[in-house]
Amino acid sequence: MAEPRSNELMEKIVSLCKRRGFIFQSSEIYGGINGFWDYGPLGAELKRNVKEIWWRTMVHNRDDIVGLEATIIMSPEIWKASGHVDTFSDPMCDCLLTKKRFRADQVEPQSGVAYYFACAVQDEHRTEALHNAAVNLDAHKALLEKMPPETRKRYEFLLTEYWDQIANAGFDPNRLPKIDTRHFSVLVKPGPHEEASARKTAMQFYKRDGLEKPLPILEKKEAIENTTGFNPENGAELTPPRPFNLMFKTYVGPVADEENVAYLRPETAQAIFAQFKNVLETSRQKVPFGIAQMGKAFRNEVTPRNFTFRSREFEQMELEFFIKPDEVIEAIKCSVSSVQSESSELKTENLKLETSSAWGWEAWHKYWVEERIKFYEGIGLPRATLEEYWQKPEELAHYARATVDLLFKFPFGAQELEGIAARSDFDLSQHERFSGKPMGVFDDELRAAWGKLPKEKQDDLRRRYYEHRKKYLTKTARPDDTPEQIEKDAKEDADGLAKGNYIPHVIEPSAGVDRLILALICHAYSEDQAPDDKGKPETRVVMRFHPRVAPIKVAVFPLLKNKPDLVAKAKEVRDLLRPHMTVFYDDTGAIGRRYRRQDEAGTPFGVTIDFDTLGEKGAELKDTVTLRDRDTMKQERVKIGDLLPLLLDRVR
Ligand code: ATP
Repeated sequence: MAEPRSNELMEKIVSLCKRRGFIFQSSEIYGGINGFWDYGPLGAELKRNVKEIWWRTMVHNRDDIVGLEATIIMSPEIWKASGHVDTFSDPMCDCLLTKKRFRADQVEPQSGVAYYFACAVQDEHRTEALHNAAVNLDAHKALLEKMPPETRKRYEFLLTEYWDQIANAGFDPNRLPKIDTRHFSVLVKPGPHEEASARKTAMQFYKRDGLEKPLPILEKKEAIENTTGFNPENGAELTPPRPFNLMFKTYVGPVADEENVAYLRPETAQAIFAQFKNVLETSRQKVPFGIAQMGKAFRNEVTPRNFTFRSREFEQMELEFFIKPDEVIEAIKCSVSSVQSESSELKTENLKLETSSAWGWEAWHKYWVEERIKFYEGIGLPRATLEEYWQKPEELAHYARATVDLLFKFPFGAQELEGIAARSDFDLSQHERFSGKPMGVFDDELRAAWGKLPKEKQDDLRRRYYEHRKKYLTKTARPDDTPEQIEKDAKEDADGLAKGNYIPHVIEPSAGVDRLILALICHAYSEDQAPDDKGKPETRVVMRFHPRVAPIKVAVFPLLKNKPDLVAKAKEVRDLLRPHMTVFYDDTGAIGRRYRRQDEAGTPFGVTIDFDTLGEKGAELKDTVTLRDRDTMKQERVKIGDLLPLLLDRVR
C-alpha cells in the first residue's frame, strides 16, 4: 500500500489520537487553548512508560547518576544568572493586517510584486476629498506641521499625485478629507489582477482602523525575491523582528508588582545547577557524576505548531553530567584520552564506550550522544529514524564546545527530539558569580597529582585554564567588571588548580517527553490489510509500539460473554497478569473487532479464553489460551502457567 502523504498522515495521526484517547486539545469544550494538550487514558499510560524507562535507564541502572525533583517556580535570580531574563527570546514579527504573530526565523521566503502604499484617504466623495487634501492649504499647513517628517513626505506626495485629477472638481475648501497616514505594503503574485489584489488587502488594512471607504494611495511597486517581510498567508506587511521573551511571568504573593515577579521554569536544568552543591554533599558522588531531573517546563512559544511538537507547556527529561575539565584530567592522568573507534569511520555508533577516568569532554560528549541513541533504539525508534545534527561552530552558543541535535524524521520533516550539549563550566560559573556561593569542587587526586608535575607542565596547564576562565569572564562581563578585575579573577581560578580546586564542566542531554511521545506515535502508526469477521480484507490501523512503551501490554478476551465458565476463566487470567502489567479486559463484540480495537491502541498481545481452555475438546488443551501477536497476527497456544513469564520476557 502506498505511503500516506505526510500531511495526510499527520491528519490521520491527530484524528486517531483523539478518537482513541491518546491526546486531546486542552480545554476543548471552550474552544481549546493554543499550544496546550491533554493526554487521554492511552496517552497517559504511554507517557508514564516513557518517563519510567528514562528514569530507570538514566538513574536506577547506573551508579554515577542521581535524581532531583525541584520546584517549577524558583528565585528569579536563577533566570538572571542563566541568561534567560536577558536573552531567552525569539525574534518575532506581527502581521499588520491580522495581528497574527510569527517567529521571524520561521517565515518562508517568498517572491512576487510588492505594492507600497503611502497612506489612504476616505473615498466617500473621492474627487472632493482629494481636492480638499490638495488645496486647503492653510488647514494642511497646520496638519503638516503636526506630522512627523516621514509622514509629511508621504502626505505631500499625495497632494502632488492627485493635483491634476482634482484641479477642475467642485469641493468644499473648509473640509479636510479623513486620512490614514500609515504606510502599508502588500506582496502579491504577478499577474493581470495584481494591483486589484494588492488594493483589496490594503483597503482591509485601512478599513480596520477607521476609514469606512479607504482609497489607498500607491507610492511605488517593485518585483522582489526571497523576502521574509510579508505574511505568507495573506501577503500583508510584517513588522520588523523584535525580541520576545518566552518565559511565562507570574507574581508570588498577593501583590502583583515588579518586586514579586517570578517565572514558570522554561527548562528543568537550572535547578540542577542551583542544587549542585547540596546534591554533591549529600549523595557521596564524585565528579564525574550526573544529576537527572524530569518535569514540566513552560515556554510562551510564538507559534506553537505541528500538533504537540511545539507546545507552551511540556515536559523535559534532562541530565547534567558533571566532568573534570581537560586540564584536570591531564594533571592527573598525564594526557586526555579520546573514545576509540572500532572502525575507521568516526561515527558515534562505532565508538567503544567503556567509560574511562582519562576521558576529556569530547569523549564524554560522544559517549552521551551514543547512549541517547541507544535509549531510543531500546524503545522502538531505530537508528535509521534519527539524524545527528552537529551544530556548526558559528551556530554554537559562546560557552558551548559542541552541540548535537538528535532529529527524528517526523512526517513534517526531521526535527529536534533532543539536544546534547557540551556546555563547559558556564552554568556553574554563572551561579557562582550571581549567588556569591562557591560552586567549585575540591579534588584530592588533583592536589596530589599537581605537586608531582614538572614545572613546565604546571605552567602550561595553569595558562590554558587561565585563558579559558578569562574568555568566559570577558564574554559575560558586567558593567563594573574591569579588565584588571577579570585578569585577577582568572588568575585566581588558575591558581586554584594547585590546591585541587576547579569548577566542573558539564555535558547536557536534554530531551522533550512530548516530542518523544509524538515521535513514538508517528513511528508506530501503520496501516495494513487484514481479514474482517467474514474473511473479507479490510484496512487495519495498527499502532506498532514497542511492547516496553505500549500503553496496554495485553488484552484478555473470553470468546463469548454469555458463557459464565469462559468469563470466570478469563477474569482469572486477567487477575493473574494484572499485578505485573497493564491488562485490558474486553468481552463485547465479535472477537475480530476486539482485536482491531486493541491493534489501534497498540496492545502487543491478545489472550483469548475459549472452549479448549475449559478442556471441552480434550484434556491436553485444558488450561491453555491463544496468544495473538499484534504485528504478525499469528496465534500460538500457551499454557496459562507459562503465560506470565513469557509475557514478562517480551514486555520488559
Ligand atoms: P527548538 O529549537 O525546537 O525550539 P530548543 O533547542 O529551544 O528547541 P532546548 O532548549 O534544547 O530546545 O530544549 C530541550 C528539549 O526540550 C528539546 O529538544 C525538545 O525536545 C524539548 N522542547 C523544547 N521546547 C519545546 C516545546 N515548545 N514543546 C515541546 N518540547 C519542547
